[in-house]
Amino acid sequence: MTTADENGKPEFDAIIVGAGFAGMYLLHRMRGMGFKVRVVEAATGVGGTWYWNRYPGARCDVESMQYSYQFSPELQAEWSWTERYAAQPEILTYANHVADRFDLRRDIDFDTRVKSAVYDETAKHWTITSEDGRSYTGRYCVMATGCLSSPNTPRFEGLEDFKGAVYHTGTWPHEKVDFTGKTVAIIGTGSSAIQSTPVIASEAKQLYLFQRTPHWVIPARNRPLDPEQQADWKQHYSERRAAAKANFSGIFANYNKQKAAEAAPDECRAEYQRRWDQGGLAFMGAFSDLLIDDDANKTAREFVTEKVRGMLKDKSLADKLIPDYLIGCKRLVIDTGYYETFNKPNVELVDISNSPIERITETGLRASGREFEVDAIVMATGFDAMTGALTRMDIRGRDGGSLKEKWSEGPRTYLGLMSHGFPNLFTITGPGSPSVFTNMLPTIEQHVEWVSDCIAYMRDHQRQSIEPSRDAEDAWVVHNEEVSGNTLKPACGSWYVGANIPGKPRVFLPYFGGFPAYIEKCNEVVAKGYEGFSLN
Ligand code: NAP
Repeated sequence: MTTADENGKPEFDAIIVGAGFAGMYLLHRMRGMGFKVRVVEAATGVGGTWYWNRYPGARCDVESMQYSYQFSPELQAEWSWTERYAAQPEILTYANHVADRFDLRRDIDFDTRVKSAVYDETAKHWTITSEDGRSYTGRYCVMATGCLSSPNTPRFEGLEDFKGAVYHTGTWPHEKVDFTGKTVAIIGTGSSAIQSTPVIASEAKQLYLFQRTPHWVIPARNRPLDPEQQADWKQHYSERRAAAKANFSGIFANYNKQKAAEAAPDECRAEYQRRWDQGGLAFMGAFSDLLIDDDANKTAREFVTEKVRGMLKDKSLADKLIPDYLIGCKRLVIDTGYYETFNKPNVELVDISNSPIERITETGLRASGREFEVDAIVMATGFDAMTGALTRMDIRGRDGGSLKEKWSEGPRTYLGLMSHGFPNLFTITGPGSPSVFTNMLPTIEQHVEWVSDCIAYMRDHQRQSIEPSRDAEDAWVVHNEEVSGNTLKPACGSWYVGANIPGKPRVFLPYFGGFPAYIEKCNEVVAKGYEGFSLN
């Protein structure tokens, strides 16, 4: 069943998949441009990542004054944040406020998980079908499906036999999960585990944390936001937002241009100490060569190693908790009380680096030659990042070509926005875009504006389909490999390269050329009449 009329005209100008921050702004902007748009969303509410990741301790690692929309000066002026880093409930309240303020819900179908998206080359439109059999047609389809939205649950043998409760941080229940008096296993030690561990440990009778690989962790130094700080931000929003866009990460922060390799040891130490005291992701901005030069990176590793050792009562634990790989290679984690949690008597780190979890049993887990009896298992095992949300749908482009098959050796896109063979299909913060290396909100806004302006251009020039050329796509893929290859970033087994998913091809997924260079390229493409795209 399709919803196109008898002349094949699609029901909508665009179907947007996802009502997170990307889908919400795209709906608002396209509606304002006079387009007929429908959003389909698997969840029962807006918010995307912040709808699903309700685990204890969930909090953004970008400061709240920056992790917010800037498209509406009124919205920006009226909203107040309570903490330096907003917790998940507050961000979700913000998303709901935006949905109410711009009356978005009337054009969103919730509880609608997309099963397939199929392009009709003759009619030049997409048919999107949900798992419960509803169909939508749209001239364009925009996947606003998020970068970290397809949860990874490893296939542990015996998982179905476990009689206790199993949770995934990325699909946490809406009601409070009370771990009081319970014995809990957390599997994983990425951002989600590092945030939830101190909170779960404060409730549980006993917590076992199963660690395959330790992460580099820097203190967040979260604190309440006082009204003066907030007023100062609001007063200077326009220049700070502009300055942020000139930074590699799209974050307004102080990035030192000096190289660690050229700084004296005490100068290095002082810079790291200053940033350690400030807390947050800007630690990696201490020197400009930390992700380029192993020796420079080593100076940061040594500093953090010493700090971590100082926080642990059991010094032998430090050897297990301190990574042996480059700092900043995997996503840096910022924490509140993570290491201190290991000083509690009810918390045990279970090192599974050399002997993986053997199986889940009816009553717990078997690992490292031991049986662990637990009441609940928390999978903090991450996501099939950047591609998972797209490849789990059956997306068919020209000649019935499958996106999943096309990307079987790794994703191929032009600018992270479109893929050859899939006309009129856009991705917001798709693979090959700066996305996860940046503050997601301004990156989302830049993509939304580019895509909606492009669709308006198509309308104004009476064009019905747009698709990147294979040459333009190939050149972008090569450029991506070059820019990441010139850094230390691909050197470790991170989700940036798909290493966390068994069988996933090892390809560096996001664009590591920085937000300013990316914006410049996107603008240049438009200025040259959508260079690299064919418009029909
Ligand atoms: P993650 O960083 O991918 O961590 C997953 C953890 O699970 C890793 O420690 C991984 O070990 C472990 N794991 C996976 N499969 C396993 C298996 N079969 N056996 C044992 N351990 C296994 O996932 P995440 O913590 O959910 O974070 C993902 C990303 O989301 C972050 O990097 C960040 O970008 C974002 N995030 C941000 C925030 C924030 O803003 N504060 C919070 C949460 C998440 P290995 O390392 O050995 O693979």
